[in-house]
Amino acid sequence: MDLRDLYQDVILDHARSPRNSRRLLAPSHLAHGHNPLCGDRITVFMLVADDRIQDISFEGRGCAISTASASLMTEILSGKTLAQARLMFDAFHARVTTGEMVPLPADLDDDQDRLEPLTGVRSFPARVKCATLAWHACDAAVTGGLVAEAVKTE
Ligand code: ZN
Repeated sequence: MDLRDLYQDVILDHARSPRNSRRLLAPSHLAHGHNPLCGDRITVFMLVADDRIQDISFEGRGCAISTASASLMTEILSGKTLAQARLMFDAFHARVTTGEMVPLPADLDDDQDRLEPLTGVRSFPARVKCATLAWHACDAAVTGGLVAEAVKTE
């Protein structure tokens, strides 16, 4: 596999026209991510209610892989429960780091397939952090990124 395969059409499309690339006005959770190896920076915004991701978006500057991964992630995780998001994160992480295919519930199968274009980074260890940056930021937002009311109203 060469670099051309890494930049498949779907990745280029999401990198050029990222979905949900905006700031949420009143997020319940947010977290910043930085990948010093590549210079990618991202902020993930989430609106979580009743353990479900009602809205998710991101802002940032980064390479095609990190931007495409963030864009795909927001499309996939929007509307998911936090438990489903955790399953997706674990499965994606395993796939791009070890290549292991973690079995997911049937209702997440289509989403797993949508991440296929990003799994090519496994052959390029330096790019794995680009592909997982948004996901780590999302995970950090869920686990420790609760936004205080005072910040929300700024
Ligand atoms: Zn990058």
